[in-house]
Amino acid sequence: MPYVVTQSCCADASCVVACPVNCIHPAPGEPGFAEAEMVHIDQDACVGCGACVTACPVGAIKADTRLSTGEQPFVALNAEYYEVFPHADRAPVAVVPPQRRLTRPGPFQVAVIGAGPAGLYTADELLKHPEVAGVDVYERLRTPYGLVRFGVAPDHTTTKQVSRLFATIERQPRFRYRLGVHVGRDVTLAELRQRYDAVVYAVGASADRRLDIPGEDLPGSVAATELVGWYNGHPDRAALEVPLDHERAVVIGNGNVALDVARILTADPETLVGTDLAAGPLGRLRTSAVREVVVLGRRGPAQSAFTVPELIGLSALADAGAIDVVIEADPDEPAGTDTRSRLLAGLARRTPSGDGQRRRIVLRFGHSPIELLGEHRVEGVRVVRNRLERAADGSVRAVPTDETSVIDAGLVVRSIGHRGLPVPDLPFDEATGTVPNDAGRVEPGVYVVGWIKRGPVGFIGTNKTCAEETVSSLLDDLDAGLPAPPAPAAAEELDGHRGRDRRRATVGAGS
Ligand code: NAP
Repeated sequence: MPYVVTQSCCADASCVVACPVNCIHPAPGEPGFAEAEMVHIDQDACVGCGACVTACPVGAIKADTRLSTGEQPFVALNAEYYEVFPHADRAPVAVVPPQRRLTRPGPFQVAVIGAGPAGLYTADELLKHPEVAGVDVYERLRTPYGLVRFGVAPDHTTTKQVSRLFATIERQPRFRYRLGVHVGRDVTLAELRQRYDAVVYAVGASADRRLDIPGEDLPGSVAATELVGWYNGHPDRAALEVPLDHERAVVIGNGNVALDVARILTADPETLVGTDLAAGPLGRLRTSAVREVVVLGRRGPAQSAFTVPELIGLSALADAGAIDVVIEADPDEPAGTDTRSRLLAGLARRTPSGDGQRRRIVLRFGHSPIELLGEHRVEGVRVVRNRLERAADGSVRAVPTDETSVIDAGLVVRSIGHRGLPVPDLPFDEATGTVPNDAGRVEPGVYVVGWIKRGPVGFIGTNKTCAEETVSSLLDDLDAGLPAPPAPAAAEELDGHRGRDRRRATVGAGS
């Protein structure tokens, strides 16, 4: 009974390490791992032991006999990977590397700033080393788990299961939370450096990229980062104005966040009862007038930023009759033969219900917004049709034509990517929205991990390998005696007057 990796794969590769026969790829260190949308099981080599199922933190691995109809395409998706990279040609890599031992005995104390996935994977990685006597995880909010709590779509309940892994990490005896402490405001880096041997920033990318078009700041134009926080109950977003009184909303950008937003806005709210959707937004969605969400991609279907597993999930919703999905693309653009193109072509062939009962998501390609219209609030989006221009290096860019049109809408969600914010006391690269670093090292004693290190791309599990790299740099420095250890007296002093929550927090999984 072979196993199959399905939609919620977080790519943290725990399954790769657990697999006794090296049949899950790409593995960390193999070509393509960093960009992989998911890992894949070679069904010819799988011995059906189920070790990967136990190791997977998000319940993404299922026996091929237990797949729902909507999950069936994952059998082909797993298999296709091995048509390109046959299993037999691979050197075995799925072995647990020997535990590194530091030459200096410690005990070392480390502060991690940010209790999202990057921070918690980092704490876990550090606590594998007995020389690390304690890891304090600082978080400005009163609740940990960052984007897993406030970013993952409420209907992706299996993805949210990763919080069980985080609960296991935080139960380790040398782990301690400092919740409700805003580093940079309540405590400075200089003060932390007096107390800790090393400080790791895992503060993510909490801002949104700007469109820089007229009307962007009209009421009714919201950033996806804000809207997603609102429906997930983020305390900073409770008062967000989200007009749901028009039958159409437009989402700009076509990454996974855009799809999340489009699904939530078109979902039957009763299917979201019992999820992490906040009570206020659930009430608002119950009375929402939105019937159609137009997801605007500036380039063509082949360049769409959403991942294939998410597209399979969307197709399954359409197949189940939960929503209609309509594809609007330039008919002159040659259709690709890859899985993405085939799935989109399948959706395009499907006839919408036409009964007016179902809400619908329109994936409109080849259009860019040039202006948000409206006097006192958003009333529409002026868009321009693009043609695609292929460069010699294979990249494809959108070039505006002179053909414009208006899409009436009462809500516009700008979903064109996150952006990191400058971190007090650290250098900052404005162009990338990241803190310049070398394998996570900003300078000996100060490190970064996650989106503030590498930019806002990748999945929850991508943070595991990212954390391994940063912790490796940190351990190199500790071993080299860099920086000088903090003075014990200074540490006491900080303890006496800083930080608001020095109790050991016990935090339940998930909610
Ligand atoms: P993203 O994947 O980077 O997508 C950004 C989208 O915005 C792209 O379609 C991009 O188009 C478009 N865009 C950028 N600038 C634009 C402009 N000026 N005008 C119009 N369109 C513009 O960002 P994201 O959706 O925020 O996701 C961030 C990361 O989180 C991704 O790695 C994503 O996969 C991950 N994530 C994963 C899941 C999941 O696994 N379920 C869920 C949510 C997020 P171009 O391609 O043309 O630049």
